[in-house]
Amino acid sequence: MSERYDLAVIGSGPGGYVCAIRAAQLGLNVVCIDKRGAHGGTCLNVGCIPSKALLHASEVFHETKNSASMGINVENVSLNLKDMMSYKDEGIDGNVKGIDFLFKKNKITGIFAEAKIISSNQINLTLPDQTEKIIEATNIVVATGSSSASIPGIEIDEDTIVSSTGALSLQKVPETLTIIGGGYIGLELGSVWSRLGSNVTVIEYLDRIAPGLDGELSSQFEKILKKQGINFILGSKVKSTQKNSEGVEVHIENVSSSESSSLQTEIVLVSTGRIPNTKGLFDDSLGIKLTDKGFIKTDKNYRTDVEGVWAIGDVIEGPMLAHKAEEEGVAVAELIKGKPGHVNYGIIPSVVYTNPEVASVGMTEEDLKGKSISYKVGKFPFLANGRAKVNKMTDGFVKILSSEESDQILGVHIIGAQAGTMIAEAAVAMEFEATSEDLAHICHAHPTLSEAIKEAALDTDGRALHM
Ligand code: FAD
Repeated sequence: MSERYDLAVIGSGPGGYVCAIRAAQLGLNVVCIDKRGAHGGTCLNVGCIPSKALLHASEVFHETKNSASMGINVENVSLNLKDMMSYKDEGIDGNVKGIDFLFKKNKITGIFAEAKIISSNQINLTLPDQTEKIIEATNIVVATGSSSASIPGIEIDEDTIVSSTGALSLQKVPETLTIIGGGYIGLELGSVWSRLGSNVTVIEYLDRIAPGLDGELSSQFEKILKKQGINFILGSKVKSTQKNSEGVEVHIENVSSSESSSLQTEIVLVSTGRIPNTKGLFDDSLGIKLTDKGFIKTDKNYRTDVEGVWAIGDVIEGPMLAHKAEEEGVAVAELIKGKPGHVNYGIIPSVVYTNPEVASVGMTEEDLKGKSISYKVGKFPFLANGRAKVNKMTDGFVKILSSEESDQILGVHIIGAQAGTMIAEAAVAMEFEATSEDLAHICHAHPTLSEAIKEAALDTDGRALHM
């Protein structure tokens, strides 16, 4: 007889493992399957956690070398990349073990195997020793995530042409690193290697970096990164790459003029987006449908076209972010249990963990214009914030967009130190449908960077105090 569960979750990334925990809390007998051989998915193993470890370590290295203006003289600062990578790996290990602990605590069965859905309540598992077994489940949640995409004609070998996974484990600091794609993953990894000594060039198809950001933030972000030494080739596409004895020759074409150029680089990082993991996951005859872009098609309650099979996280449409996957994991577990699970997609913050950080929640000015919504803008630069001035962290600003009519906050965009932490205040305010007047009324501790949020709120009404 095959094993039977109330719920089988395929994938133990932030969507899958959080879904498993919430379902177990609700009393379901849960199995969570992952083919990786470690729980935590992309996020813990080759995504959020290792990239943040390297961002932190490289920032400490950079700051240590540049701390003389604070009266800290450190001589002969040197990099031991091998140890830095061990530091990163320890961070991954600690987080992965945390999930093992949570599975045990919540009595979740964890299985390492490749899963294939063979009917609405049966999954075939290929175990690491290549033996197979079938398990049964009343409900199945697909949380198989996504993988790095490449572009036609460019083959990722994880040696000289790497994906984000390869870029998190380079054995030496490349003299030159060329990044194809100016999205947040490329910019974060570019910052890491630039701080460690690489000459970094980013090639982006569009005429702006981090295209999802509010336009004003995006152009300020580009200026700051340029000042830090990162080069940008915008409005250009990579036509092909050619490996040679010194690395790779990258052939580029300007999108508007069609002019061709090329550059020689030691390493290429392909960071052109991610594709949903659905290959080999189910037989087409099962009736699970995909969208035009290859994501699993679901209704707004994460139901696929097959009764009892649900999908969440990167494998369905929406921002490819760990916290979005987690929210969906909780919501789908609650829906399966007959509770009103819900995700507020209008208030999903996004953060780029560069220095300074860039964080956004809600609509951008471009979104508002596109929807013909009239709005007010409040802005406050960190240059006028006491804490930022004394800490010499004056790059950036806070921008609040609120309804012209009701003053309700519609979007908050921050570029500056600790923006990723500060954006939570904006998300809370928006969840409670606060106005910028409400935010302006709140007493913010002095001296903190978050006072800039209060000042930007005051500025929507022309009342900023320190400007
Ligand atoms: P995943 O985390 O991708 O997990 C899916 C799991 O399913 C994988 O472990 C895979 O092995 C398993 N799987 C797939 N197919 C099968 C199968 N057939 N059988 C069994 N198992 C299977 N997001 C943020 O919010 N913040 C960040 O700072 C951030 N940084 C990132 C940095 C990098 C370099 C990258 C690559 C991504 C980053 N992300 C970040 C994105 C984030 O990692 C993803 O959005 C998130 O991991 C998606 O979660 P998920 O649960 O949907 O899928």
